[in-house]
Amino acid sequence: MTIPPSLVQYQWPPSTAEIAARVGLPPSSILRFDGNVPPVPPASARPQAIAGALADINEYDRGRYFELRQAIANYHQLPLDYVVLGAGSDELIVLCARTFAANGAVATVPAISYSMYRFAAGMAGAEMVADPLSADLVYVCRPNNPTGELPDVPSVPGQLVIDEAYADYAQVDALEWIDRGAIVLRTFSKAFGLAGARVGYALALPPLAAVLSSRLAPLSVSSLSATLALAALASPPNVTEQIGERERLAGELRSRGLVALPSHTNFLYIPMDNPEDFVASLLPAGIVVRAFAGAVRISVRDEIDDNALLAALDAVRVGEVATDDLVRHRRITGETRMDVRLRLRGSGRVYVDTGSGLYDHFLTQLAFHSGIDLRIVGVGDHETGDHHTVEDLMRAFGDALNLALGERRGLVRYGEARVPMDEALAHAVVDLSGRPVSQLSISPDPGMATHGLESFAQTAKLTLHVTASGENAHHVAEGAFKAVGRALAMALQIDGNEIRSTKGSL
Ligand code: PMP
Repeated sequence: MTIPPSLVQYQWPPSTAEIAARVGLPPSSILRFDGNVPPVPPASARPQAIAGALADINEYDRGRYFELRQAIANYHQLPLDYVVLGAGSDELIVLCARTFAANGAVATVPAISYSMYRFAAGMAGAEMVADPLSADLVYVCRPNNPTGELPDVPSVPGQLVIDEAYADYAQVDALEWIDRGAIVLRTFSKAFGLAGARVGYALALPPLAAVLSSRLAPLSVSSLSATLALAALASPPNVTEQIGERERLAGELRSRGLVALPSHTNFLYIPMDNPEDFVASLLPAGIVVRAFAGAVRISVRDEIDDNALLAALDAVRVGEVATDDLVRHRRITGETRMDVRLRLRGSGRVYVDTGSGLYDHFLTQLAFHSGIDLRIVGVGDHETGDHHTVEDLMRAFGDALNLALGERRGLVRYGEARVPMDEALAHAVVDLSGRPVSQLSISPDPGMATHGLESFAQTAKLTLHVTASGENAHHVAEGAFKAVGRALAMALQIDGNEIRSTKGSL
C-alpha cells in the first residue's frame, strides 16, 4: 500500500484555551477578534429548538433536510432544486474545486482572498493562477475576506463560484449570476451566528446543483445543525447594529492613526507595517486580532468588546498592558442561557435582551443607575412563563458582579438610595458584605421583582434591604430596581485601598 503525500493544511488559529495559557489569563478573558463571527449566538439557538431533533437522533433524516432546503429556497425566492446543503461552505468550496478544477487551474477575485480557496485547489490537484481568464474555476469572494472590499463579478470562461459568506453585511448579492451559470455559496456561520453548527449551502441552476449533490456524501450536515439553521432562518439577522458598530469602530481606530479600508463586512482590514508586532502587542491583554501580509484584520464584535480592544490599544500606546475590568460570564441551565459582560467602572452603557421585556427593562434601569456597563444577551424558556428566565437573568447578573468585585478591595461597601417613581416610593440599602442576605418588601409586586432581586443578592453575595410601595406595580418595581442601582453606585465608589472590614475580608 502506498500512502499518498499529505497536503499543506488550512492553518487554524490557536484555540482560546491555548492562547489563555500562553498569556496567563483565564479563557473567559480572551476576546477573539479573529473569527469574523458575531459575539453571541442568535436567540433561536436554544435547547428547546433542538429538542425534537434530539428525540429523533437515532434516525437518519431520509428527506435530506427537505424543510431546511425548502426554507432556504423560499428565503432566496428560488425553486427547491437550486439548493445544495454542505457542512459549512468550506465543504462546498472544496467540492467545487474537485468538481470543476481537478488537476486544472484556479484563480481568485480579488487576487488576495480567503486562503481556503488555495487549500481547496491543492486538494483537487489544481494550481493557482493569477489570471481569472485562464482558470477552470474562479472563486469570487464578495464581499472579500480579508480586505472587506466588494469586487465586481468578472465574465470568465471557467466556472464561477461566488462566495457570499459576508453578503448579509454588504446588503447586496449576486444571485442574478445564478441564471448565467454561476454557483453562489452562502453560510450560516457569519451573520446567522451558527459557525459551530457547520451549515452552508450552494445555489445553482438545477443541472449544476445536481452535479454538486452527486459528488457529496449523502448527509454531511447533522440533524441538530440542520434544525438550528431552520430555526435561525425563521428570524433572519438584522445587521443594522453591526454595520453601525463597524463604522464606529473604524472611526475610533482612525482617530488612533489606524486607517481601515472601506468594509462591506463585519471586519476591518488595516494595512500597516509590522502586523505581527501589532498582534503581539495586544495579546497580553487577551485581545486576539489576525495578521496578514502587510495588514491586520479585526472582526467587529459589539460596543462593550470593541471598547476593550480600544482600551488595550490605548494602554499599549503608553507602554502599559491594558487592565480592562471587563468580566465575561455565561450561565447555562436546562431552561436558559445567559451571556453576561460587565464592566464595573463603565458609563452606564446597558443592553439587556432575554425576551422577558419587563425585567429586561428593570435590570437595564438598575445597571444604568449604578454606572456600570452591562450587556446581557439571553435566551429562556418562556413557554412556562417568565419565572426561569428572570431568575436566571438576575442570578447571572449577580454572578458577574461578584466576579467583577473580586476581593472587594477599596470599595466604600455601603450604599443607600431613595427613589420615587411617580406615586411609588422605593428605598434600598446595599452592603457589599460578601454574605447573601435580602430583606425585601415590594408591594404590589408585578410578579418577579422580589424573587429577582433576592436571586441577585444571593449570587452577588451582598446584603440588600428594599422597601417599595405605591399603587402601580410597575412603578413600584421600577422604583425598587432604580433605588438598588443608585445604592450600588454609592457602594461601588472607590475609597482607598483597604478591604473595608475589620475581619480583613468580605
Ligand atoms: N467563505 C469565506 C469568505 C469565509 O471567510 C469563510 C469563513 N472564514 C467561509 C467561506 C467558510 O465558512 P463556513 O463556516 O460556512 O465553512
